[in-house]
Amino acid sequence: MKNEYYLAADNPDDYFCSFMQGLVKRNPGEPEFHQAVEEAAKSLIPFMFDNKKYLQGQILERLSEPDRIISFRVCWADDQGSIRTNRGFRVQFSNAIGPYKGGLRFHPTVNQGILKFLGFEQILKNSLTSLPIGGGKGGSNFNPKGKSEAEVMRFCQAFMMELSHHIGENTDVPAGDIGVGSREISYMFGRYKQLKKEFTGVITGKGLALGGSLGRVEATGYGVVYFAQNVLAENSVGLKGKVCVVSGSGNVAQYAVEKLLELGAKVTAMSDSGGFIHEPNGFDNEKLEYIKTIKNQRKSLAGYAEKFSTVYHRGKKPWGVPCEFAFPCATQNEICIEDAQALVNGGCKGVFEGANMPSDLAAIKFFEAKDVIFAPAKAANAGGVAISALEMSQNSMRLSWSKEEVDQRLKDIMASIHKQCVEYGKGKQGTDYVTGANIAGFVKVAEAMLAYGVT
Ligand code: NDP
Repeated sequence: MKNEYYLAADNPDDYFCSFMQGLVKRNPGEPEFHQAVEEAAKSLIPFMFDNKKYLQGQILERLSEPDRIISFRVCWADDQGSIRTNRGFRVQFSNAIGPYKGGLRFHPTVNQGILKFLGFEQILKNSLTSLPIGGGKGGSNFNPKGKSEAEVMRFCQAFMMELSHHIGENTDVPAGDIGVGSREISYMFGRYKQLKKEFTGVITGKGLALGGSLGRVEATGYGVVYFAQNVLAENSVGLKGKVCVVSGSGNVAQYAVEKLLELGAKVTAMSDSGGFIHEPNGFDNEKLEYIKTIKNQRKSLAGYAEKFSTVYHRGKKPWGVPCEFAFPCATQNEICIEDAQALVNGGCKGVFEGANMPSDLAAIKFFEAKDVIFAPAKAANAGGVAISALEMSQNSMRLSWSKEEVDQRLKDIMASIHKQCVEYGKGKQGTDYVTGANIAGFVKVAEAMLAYGVT
């Protein structure tokens, strides 16, 4: 079969250049999407040259083009009766191995390029879980901050009015992400149920009374820490007594910190979009509970600093705080080269990504050069979507598993993802988790695509 890239480039480097030039040209103004694909392509293209059926099948070209993107208007009335208009999206990226699956993000920065990067990452991440879920992502530029409860409800209902035409328990199953927690999921699920007259597992991250899974709310944060345990066990290291810095203070960060404290680690800094707080002696459970309370009310960490007589470092990131391990759990590109240098200068030996793509390409390269263990998001934070997939299973079976059972499955899934990364990423210098995660996630999806023929 003809393949123009394959014929034009007879080595991985030239192929990579042609491929990336084409991708950037076809997707202008979407730097986060380019970055996510570039990170994966660097690992995948050499692998494809060793396994030419994937080159001949043009798998990477096909995989980096979404199945479809739905963009829609969301109109709602604010508390003053004024009409507001936002833009909603759903990127249905790939359903090669299962229904589209990925969260919804409500944040003023949301645009098509950001959702494409998240959707692309989701394909390989979901494959790594070994569960039958494809990749997708969605959201809106709606900002829930500063909105009343009634406004959030009206927005969520208006958003679902349109989204409901495109999702279904066997088609596309969204979940939460930044700005979308159980409150927003409940409003959206309520509207879907009303519109379709059915109670099915069309969305995950639901509250327990609505068919949610025990352990889902903790799953991403706990999963990152379980993944870190697996990685560190390779070097016979544990987390007990280790000094850790965690960015963010939302869902992922809160439960990463909770599990780190349970395992005896010392967490000395957390952050939000306005700054960070530093506790040289470490947070304890009481302080963490306070953070959960204020952040779940969408308030600033400045309130924490006031209550516990510490400083809120406004406008600053936490990466200058010395630590052995860093857990970025806030947002994309929150670690750039200067932050990576600050981490290494502060003694950081390992970075475990809880957020999606928190480290930029220069930071990753720097970590590699400095022998810092680097666990990329698509492996390290896959616990959340894995338990979402188990929520789908429980909904289909009309039963629910105990918290212990879900937690055990989460541990097993994170161990299995680690094993796959080692299988594909092991080299003379140890495991390259970026390469391992990309290839392990890719193989299953690529095999399915080859089996389907040209689709
Ligand atoms: P939340 O909305 O619960 O929390 C987000 C946190 O990040 C908040 O502390 C927020 O601060 C902070 N933040 C947001 N934007 C910025 C920014 N530009 N600079 C600094 N801090 C920022 O979201 P989640 O915890 O659910 O998600 C966090 C990350 O984890 C995202 O990358 C998400 O895609 C990823 N993820 C989430 C999963 C999940 O199950 N929830 C699953 C897998 C990945 P503030 O409160 O001030 O806005």
